[in-house]
Amino acid sequence: MTDEELRRELALLKELGYTHLDVQGAPAARASAAPEPPPPPAPEPPARPSAPALFDSAPPPPPRPSGPVPRDVPVGPEGAPDTRTIIDCDNLADLAVIAAPCTRCRLARTRTQVVFGTGNPNADLMFVGEAPGRDEDQQGKPFVGRAGQLLTDIIKAMRMTRDDVFIANVIKCRPPENRNPEPDELDACRPYIRRQIEMIRPKVIVVLGRFALQSLTEKAYSISSVRGQWLQHEGVKIMPTYHPAYLLRNPAAKKDVWQDMKKVMTELGITP
Ligand code: SF4
Repeated sequence: MTDEELRRELALLKELGYTHLDVQGAPAARASAAPEPPPPPAPEPPARPSAPALFDSAPPPPPRPSGPVPRDVPVGPEGAPDTRTIIDCDNLADLAVIAAPCTRCRLARTRTQVVFGTGNPNADLMFVGEAPGRDEDQQGKPFVGRAGQLLTDIIKAMRMTRDDVFIANVIKCRPPENRNPEPDELDACRPYIRRQIEMIRPKVIVVLGRFALQSLTEKAYSISSVRGQWLQHEGVKIMPTYHPAYLLRNPAAKKDVWQDMKKVMTELGITP
C-alpha cells in the first residue's frame, strides 16, 4: 500500500470513529471494549419472618384492612385460606387470624368483619348458632343483639357466664339482609367450625336452630323432630334446640329450650 493509500484509509477509519489501530488484528475501538466488570452481587432477599410452626407449609395470609371486601375482589377458593390450612391449624387464636381476611365465599363482599367466635377456649360447653346478624357484624362478636341477650340469659340460668362457654356460628360472615345461608356458603365455612370444635373439645355442644344443626352434621334434620334429643358429632354430644331468634318470635317455646338446657346441665354435672 502506498503512503497516499494508507492516508486515505486512515482518514476513512477516523470518519468511522476509529481512534486507534490494533496492529495485532481488530481495530482498537473494538478491542478496547474492556471486559465487563463482574456484576455486583445480587442483594440478599429480605429475611422472611419466621412463621409459627403450624404455618410451616402455608404461611398466614397478610393482614388486610378490616371492612367489606371490595366487590371487584374475587371470592372463592382462589387466594382464600385453603381447607388444609384450616385443618392444620392447631391454635384457636391462629385460626382467628386465618379467618379474618377470608374470601372463601361471596359473603366476604358484604360483611363488615368476620365473626369468629368468643369465649373460653377450654370450655366444656359450646353454643353453635347460624350466622351473624347486623349487630354481630358491626361488633365482631356472636350473639350480641336481642337474640344474643336472650342467649346470655339462658346461660346465666344455667349458672354459667358467657366467659365459661364458647359461642360461635357455622357461618362467620353476615348474609345480606339476614337471608338464609346458601349451601355453598355453608360448605365453604364448615371447616372453621369443625376445627374450632376439634380444638376446644367441649363435652357438650348446644346447636341452635336448623341451619346450624344441618351444617354441622351434614344431615337433613328437622329441628322440631330432634330438639331435646342427644346426638353425636365426632364423639361430642350434641343437644339440638331452638334458636334464640325463634324464641323471640315464639316465647311459648322457651319452656322447651329450658327442658333441653336442664339435660345439658345434668350432663355437665350442674344441678338444675
Ligand atoms: S362466611 Fe366463612 S367461608 Fe365465607 S367468607 Fe366468611 S369466613 Fe370465609
